[in-house]
Amino acid sequence: MVNLTKSQPAPDCLVAEQAKSNGSVRNCPEVRERLRVDFYEKCYLCERHDIPMEIEHFIPHKGDKTLEFDWLNLFLACGHCNRAKGTQLDLLNCTNPSDDVLRQLEYQYSAENLSSKISIDALNDDVRVRNTAHLLTTIFNSTSGEGKMYSPKLRSKLGEEIQRLETTIESLLARKQEGFETSDDYFALQHHLSIQSPFFAFKYWFLRRHTLYSLEFQDLLAQAPLPAF
Ligand SMILES: [Zn+2]
Repeated sequence: MVNLTKSQPAPDCLVAEQAKSNGSVRNCPEVRERLRVDFYEKCYLCERHDIPMEIEHFIPHKGDKTLEFDWLNLFLACGHCNRAKGTQLDLLNCTNPSDDVLRQLEYQYSAENLSSKISIDALNDDVRVRNTAHLLTTIFNSTSGEGKMYSPKLRSKLGEEIQRLETTIESLLARKQEGFETSDDYFALQHHLSIQSPFFAFKYWFLRRHTLYSLEFQDLLAQAPLPAF
């Protein structure tokens, strides 16, 4: 999960839909388009980007029209995460700048444990941090219901993406050592280190744990829109 900014003002069609007796946010193409841009086409929970997305209500509206059509309450999530979250309350809000979502949770990834379990740990005792860590851990490690099928695919996608990051880093270091041109690798690495990149939170924590990489790429890290370690 990464911090995102909701564009303003709210799409006009929301007011019109709210006024209808059978109105729906799904009837507003502008809502979906704006969410797609604001959320970089990623699910805000799992950060996957290559699957169909749904409009999700961060605070469940339960028939409350104000919450149902409140632009700030509309998020972009994949179907799996939308259903895993359900009506849960008291979670970190990635669109609230005072919730530092990237650094209040630690993402533990290693190629060896991909087939078993991925840890996402709360770094403080705040109830919203703990709830969010628990939800994300469930999303990545479900063993029952619909998640039993989805979670292994999600971990596999994550593994592929981290593998691509590692390959890029290794290639860049090797070419640099040999004195070869490295601009393509730098460009690829810069893409991985941008917030719109899939599974960015895992990449951020991956680099944090690899101090050698962090030192090697400090110039690039300083330029990238990556929050300071
Ligand atoms: Zn998702």
